[in-house]
Order: sequence, then structure tokens, then C-alpha cells
Amino acid sequence: MTPSRWTIVLRMIRNRIAIACSVLLGALTLTHAQAPGATKAFTGARVFDGTDRAPVDNATIVVRDGRVVAVGAADRVTVPAGAERISLAGKHVVPGLINAHGHVGNTAGLQQGQYSAANVARDLHTYAAYGVTTVFSLGDDQQAGFAARDAQRTPTLDRARLFVAGPVLAPKTPDEARKQVDEVAGMKADIVKIRVDDNLGTTAKMPPEIYKAVIDESHKKNMRTAVHLFYLEDAKGVLDAGADFIAHSVRDKEVDDAVIAMLKRRDVCVCPTLMREVSTFVYESTPAWFSDPLFTKYADAKTLDQLKEPARQEQMKNSKSAQRYKVALDVASRNVKKLSDSGVRIAMGTDTGPPARFQGYFELMEMELMAKAGLTPKQVLIASTRDAARCQKLDSELGTLESNKWADFVVLDADPFANISNVRKIADVYVAGNKVNR
Ligand SMILES: [Zn+2]
Repeated sequence: MTPSRWTIVLRMIRNRIAIACSVLLGALTLTHAQAPGATKAFTGARVFDGTDRAPVDNATIVVRDGRVVAVGAADRVTVPAGAERISLAGKHVVPGLINAHGHVGNTAGLQQGQYSAANVARDLHTYAAYGVTTVFSLGDDQQAGFAARDAQRTPTLDRARLFVAGPVLAPKTPDEARKQVDEVAGMKADIVKIRVDDNLGTTAKMPPEIYKAVIDESHKKNMRTAVHLFYLEDAKGVLDAGADFIAHSVRDKEVDDAVIAMLKRRDVCVCPTLMREVSTFVYESTPAWFSDPLFTKYADAKTLDQLKEPARQEQMKNSKSAQRYKVALDVASRNVKKLSDSGVRIAMGTDTGPPARFQGYFELMEMELMAKAGLTPKQVLIASTRDAARCQKLDSELGTLESNKWADFVVLDADPFANISNVRKIADVYVAGNKVNR
């Protein structure tokens, strides 16, 4: 080998080392660049962690890589050196709200629109802007929704988390039921969703042999079944068949001891969706909240103009179903209180997402309606955080502010325990410790 060839070989080796070093240095630099944001300490707020513990004054929440490292009184939590400090003095922190029954991605104004990734992104941002940091979509979910769910386990997330049911199943035979459940399981949906309802006597109701097959096949596939229903007798039927989540209030009759016992035996949750009822009749006139800046900030102005049209309002006023659902709201409200008093677990949910069911704002109103029904602010908050997470099997990572869970929380300017309406007084919303741009 000639000296010149040695020189070439040495130069090649040197170059490779240089490249390797620059890659390594780049990686180190990147790590370093992220370091100041990676650990955050939120200080000074009164923090309700979503557990049975009382709120803690002057608390510190330490967040690293999007997750809670520690939370507690300032004198009991060590802030790591180099952590970014964010003062929340004078504020009230609650875990991010969880809507256990919403819908995402479909709506365009007053129409059922074209499902799209853009609509999914829009909806998840809207929910988060109102403090709803997780939404469990109970049906009509398509690929973009699944993709959003699959992309959200990241410390950089700054929109609401999404869980999906895929299509609402409407099989005509038990065989078809099992086949459809297999398909939804194959999609890796988070739950199976069916409707057992005749829409106030106007449509055929799914018969027991069909929902039994759906529920049985779901369980064989290690999945849960959420059921849309209206009638007390159907609640008993689906619970007897093994239903795992009751997606609406019983609205025809007062819940009785038998159904309460069935719910409690397997800790099956009820999702009241009181705002769903409200949406069926409230546009018979222009709601007062149409002039609330908190509402109008994210509501589509054209949709509001349409809902203010006198002819449309007159039509709703004269709608038999609207007036029937108005009565159903009263029944539902009484049932929420009775179920809660009986120890049935309640999961806050609204059925927002379809036209004129406004995401985000309606969840705050739902919480107010739960309080109006007789629940205490603490019960409402628990149903909207920890219990909603438990009911949808999300509680290993969501629902409370405890170490290792995602740092999703709402910063309020006033105490929600004093008045649940203070959940409207949102200072900031954080998802994975990242401030939501609202
Ligand atoms: Zn729904």
C-alpha cells in the first residue's frame, strides 16, 4: 500500500468518525434542547387530584415527559433542579375533563358532514379548549379517528385524547352480529356500540337475540359493549345480557331497585347525556347562551344564524318528539340523582358532536345540569374525571392527577367546589403538561 493510499484510508476513517460524532452530538444537542421543557413544575394552585383526597392548597405538580411525576403540598414535593417553573398562584386545578360519550369528526354546520382528519383535529382542539382533555367517541368513527388515537401517546400532545368505537353496529341476525363484532375487534376499536331504541316508537328496535349475540361476541373478543337506550325495560334486558356501559339515561320511567342492583352487581356505569335531551328541544327559541362569548368563540356563526331562524324554531316548538324529549330530560335528571345516591357509578357524557350539539361548551353545561339534578360539585367533578376514566377503562393513565398518569388538567380562576359553574372560568388547559392554544 502506497502512502497516498494510506492517506485516503485514514481520511475515510476520520470522516466516518466525524460523521458519527456529529450524529451523536446532534442527538445530544437535541436532548439538551428539549430538556428545559421536559420537566415542569406547576406551583401555587389549589389542586384537586380527582381522588377522594381533599383539594390541597399551594400544591406543586411536577411533570416530566408529559406525565405527572409528583403532586402534593409544596413542602412535600421536590422540584427537580432545572425544571421550568410555572406559577399558578391563586388558581384552582382539576384533572382534565373526560367526556365518556361524544362523537368526533362528522359534523359540518347543521349537516352530518364528511368525516375527515381535518374535522377530527378541529373537534379535538375544540374539546380541549373547554377543558375536555379526553373524549370517548361512541360511534361513526373512521380511519382518521383511529389514526388520531394511535398518535396521542406522546409528550408533545396538545389536543384532546380520543378513543373510538368504529361504526355503530346494526346487525339483522345473530350471525351478522358476531361477524360485525369481529370486524370492529379487527379494527382495534376501544368498545363496541349498539342502539337498542325505537326512537319514540318510530323505528324497529334491536331484538334481544341480536344484542345478546353482540354482547356475547364482544366479550369473547375481550371487548366491552356500550348500549344506547331509552327505556327501563331495555336497560334490564341489556344488563341481563351483559352490557358493559349504559350510554344514556333511562328516560321513560324512574329507575327501580332491580335495575340499580343490576348496575351495581357488575359496576356498570351510566352516562346521563342530559345535554343530548336539551339539544332536541332548546332551539325552539334562541338560548341565552348564544350570546355567551365562551360559547361563540368556538361555535360556527353560520350554524347559530340557522338555529335562530324563526321558521326553524317554530318547527321545533311544534315537534312532538322535541316536546317528548323535554319531559324525558326531567325523568333523566331525577334518575341521575337516584342512581348516584344508590351508589351507581356515573360517567359524565353529553353525546356532543352531531349537529347542534356543541362540543366543549355542552360538557360544561352537562356538569351544571348534573349539579342541578342534585349532585354535589365534588360528585360532578369525580363523574367528569376519575369515574369517567374508570367507566371507560382509561384509569391506568387518565382521570386523576397521580404519578405516572398523563398531566392533563384544567386551571380555573375560581373554585369549582364552591360552584360547579366555575368550570367555565378557564384560565388554561394542559394536555401532557402542554398548554393548549385556546
Ligand atoms: Zn351518541
